[in-house]
Amino acid sequence: MEPDRLLLLCRPGYEGDTAAELQAAAGAMGFPGYCRAHADTGRVTLFTGAGTITDFTDHWRLQGAIFPRQAFLTTDPVPLPDRDRVGALLAALGDCAVSELVTETPDSEAGRAWTRLARALSAPLRQGLAAAGLWQPGSDAPRLHLLLDDDGAHLGLAPAGLDDPRPGGIPRLKRPKSAPSRSFLKLEEAWQTFLDPAERDRALQSGMRAVDLGAAPGGWSWLLQRRGLEVLAVDNGPLKGEVATAEGVTHIRADGFTWRPPRPVDWLVCDMVERPQRVAALAADWFAAGRCRYAVFNLKLPMRRRYAAVEECREVIRGHLGSTPARLGIRHLYHDRDEVTAFLGPAPGQ
Ligand code: SAM
Repeated sequence: MEPDRLLLLCRPGYEGDTAAELQAAAGAMGFPGYCRAHADTGRVTLFTGAGTITDFTDHWRLQGAIFPRQAFLTTDPVPLPDRDRVGALLAALGDCAVSELVTETPDSEAGRAWTRLARALSAPLRQGLAAAGLWQPGSDAPRLHLLLDDDGAHLGLAPAGLDDPRPGGIPRLKRPKSAPSRSFLKLEEAWQTFLDPAERDRALQSGMRAVDLGAAPGGWSWLLQRRGLEVLAVDNGPLKGEVATAEGVTHIRADGFTWRPPRPVDWLVCDMVERPQRVAALAADWFAAGRCRYAVFNLKLPMRRRYAAVEECREVIRGHLGSTPARLGIRHLYHDRDEVTAFLGPAPGQ
């Protein structure tokens, strides 16, 4: 198999934003890249007009991207016959050894219809690979992706660092019964996305202090309190459920844009529904002034040109940080809807 394109998965409805982001990334690296993006499929394909696709993927990182959740190298989809599907897939793969198999479908209505078949093909395909001597777990051979949708079987390869090992790039987070709403999953996913496990343990310790701007009804405050942090929950609206009376959570009725903490805190989290540029400026100001060591803030994107809006917010953040060293991440999380989540933390080595 000789891949000539990069396949990306994103939230359905975000194909245009993903394409705009990838074309900009390719352009910045000197490739005249162009994308094929079909509305609401949750799938985008990038071609490079000059050079090979691996010239691009050798330098591009999914981890640093905003909208794509998954990425792998591929070629034309394989039509799936009614019989001996594994044989057809192995023939398309050729003599390429692989170290793992990820079977997945796009996160769309049409994509979900293929989930059962994708799962059913997993074990026989692995056996077929083993019988052909191509199954080499633990080696540095690329990961094999099998994505099924209405266009056929997209067979893909991902060398280390290109893809997400989770099917569809989707985290599976549990919702405890006592969680007040699904909203806390955004913050949990942000921690898992922007902090590695060791950094998470260091940055989220019992007794640390957090401010939650736009806290009501209280999902993010609930999660912070469960991790043992002391929370100042700022919102003119009421907190609901157990978080309203939880020890260590103080509800402050105030405007999140003008309220300031009496002394610096470890975490600022912010989920206020407001213009994203305004929230970006506020969080960057808190960070630059040393009011917090870490920040997670949600940027709402009700507009049509969302990639452009996110890049505008990135510039706003950079402008407000000035010369303050920081690690900035912005990602369209699985649990985000029409919004992205941004992170600010100490620069590497600090
Ligand atoms: N993260 C919250 C949770 O997990 O329950 C949900 C937050 S909700 C999406 C947005 C909240 O922002 C609303 O409760 C709203 O009252 C609050 N908000 C909007 N503008 C605000 C402001 N200027 N100051 C304080 N809160 C604000």
